[in-house]
Amino acid sequence: MPPMGSPSTRGGPSLSSWGGKNRRHQVVIEDDEKREHKLGCRWLIDATGRNQMLGRKLGLHQRTQLQKNVYWFRLVDFDPAILSHIHAIKKENRSFDSYYCTHHFFGEGSWIWCIPIVSEEHPRMISIGITYRTDLCRREIHTIEQFLYYIATEHPVVVDLVKSGRLDDTNSYRSYTYETRQHYSSDGWFIIGDAGDTVDPLYSHGLALISMQAQQVGEAIRREHKGEPIDEFVTDLDIAFTTMHRLATREITSLYEVMHDPLRCHLRMHLAILLMFRLAVPLIFNEYMWDPIGIKIQSFSEAKRHGSRSRPLEAADRRRRLGTAQPLGRQLSQGAVTVLPELRLL
Ligand SMILES: Cc1cc2nc3c(=O)[nH]c(=O)nc-3n(C[C@H](O)[C@H](O)[C@H](O)COP(=O)(O)OP(=O)(O)OC[C@H]3O[C@@H](n4cnc5c(N)ncnc54)[C@H](O)[C@@H]3O)c2cc1C
Repeated sequence: MPPMGSPSTRGGPSLSSWGGKNRRHQVVIEDDEKREHKLGCRWLIDATGRNQMLGRKLGLHQRTQLQKNVYWFRLVDFDPAILSHIHAIKKENRSFDSYYCTHHFFGEGSWIWCIPIVSEEHPRMISIGITYRTDLCRREIHTIEQFLYYIATEHPVVVDLVKSGRLDDTNSYRSYTYETRQHYSSDGWFIIGDAGDTVDPLYSHGLALISMQAQQVGEAIRREHKGEPIDEFVTDLDIAFTTMHRLATREITSLYEVMHDPLRCHLRMHLAILLMFRLAVPLIFNEYMWDPIGIKIQSFSEAKRHGSRSRPLEAADRRRRLGTAQPLGRQLSQGAVTVLPELRLL
C-alpha cells in the first residue's frame, strides 16, 4: 500500500532555540504569505515524515547498511479475474472473497504487493508495488517497463494483470531506509513515525507503530503534568520502542535472503506473524508499551543483551549540534504541545 502521507518537501519550520530540561523550545514557521511566526512550546513532537526535521538538526539519523528500493503504482480498469489464474496451494475459502485480501508475490530478494482499493472515481482500483533489497536483487525498477520486464519470469500472472489495465499513477524511492539513534528525550522533544525511522511495508505495520508512539508520548507528557520525574521513564520508552522497531525491521530485512524459497519464507513469516499477534499486539493492547514496569522489563532485557543501557545523547551535545543560543524561556506561552504537521507549515 502506498505511504499514507503526501510527499514531503524540504524546508519548512526551523528550530531557532532549544529549551533543554524544563524550558521552552522556539520554532519559527512561515505562513502562506511568507510571514514568519515564532512559536514557543514545552513539547516538540516531530512528525514531519521523510523530512526528518529534528533528527537532521540533531544529527541523529543513520542510513541502514542494507538498503531497499521500492516502486509502486495504482492500476485501474483491469481484469480481476486474471488473479484466479494463480496456481495457489490453499484450502477453499468460504468465509470471504480472497480478491479483497492483500496478495503477496515473493521472488529473488524481492516481494510484490497487490492490494485492491477503491476511490470515488474508480470503484475498481489496485495498488501494486515491488520492494527489493539492493544487494540481493541487482535491478533498477523505476518505470512500468522495467517492472514488467523484471517480473516476467517469476510472476507472469502479475504481468497479465497489469497489461489488462491502465496506470493511474506511479512512485518510487531509491535506497530509502534510515533509522534514528534516539526517539524521545525528557528535554521535551519526541520524534515519531517516518521522521524517525522507515518501515518495510511487508506487514503493513507502519501506522500501528506510530499509534503506539502517540500513546507513549502522551503518557510521558501526562506524567510530567502530574509533577512526576520522567527522565528514567522517557529513556525506558525510547529503549522499548527502539527494540520493538528494530526487531521487526531486522527480521523483515533478513527475510529477503529466503524470499525465493517458498518453504523457508512461508515458515519464517508464519513465526513472525505468530510473534506479532501473540506477543507484540497483546503488549500494546494491554498498555505495557507505555507502562513504567512493562517498558522496564524490555529495557532490562536490552541491557542484558548489550551489557549496558543505551545512553541517550548528552544535552550539551544536542545543544551544540543545534547551534542554539539561550532558550527564549517564558516569552511565548501558547499550547503546551506542538505537533508540527498540524501547524500548516511550509
Ligand atoms: C511503499 C510503502 C508502503 C507502505 N504501506 C504501508 C501500509 O500498508 N500500512 C502502514 O501502516 N504503513 C505503510 N507504510 C508506512 C507508512 O506509509 C509510513 O510509516 C507513514 O505514512 C508515516 O507517517 P508519518 O505521519 O510519520 O509521515 P508522513 O505520512 O510522510 O507525514 C508527514 C507529514 O508532514 C508533512 N511535513 C513534512 N515536513 C513538514 C514541514 N516542514 N512543515 C509542515 N509539514 C511538514 C508532510 O507534508 C506530511 O504530510 C508504507 C511505506 C512505504 C514506503
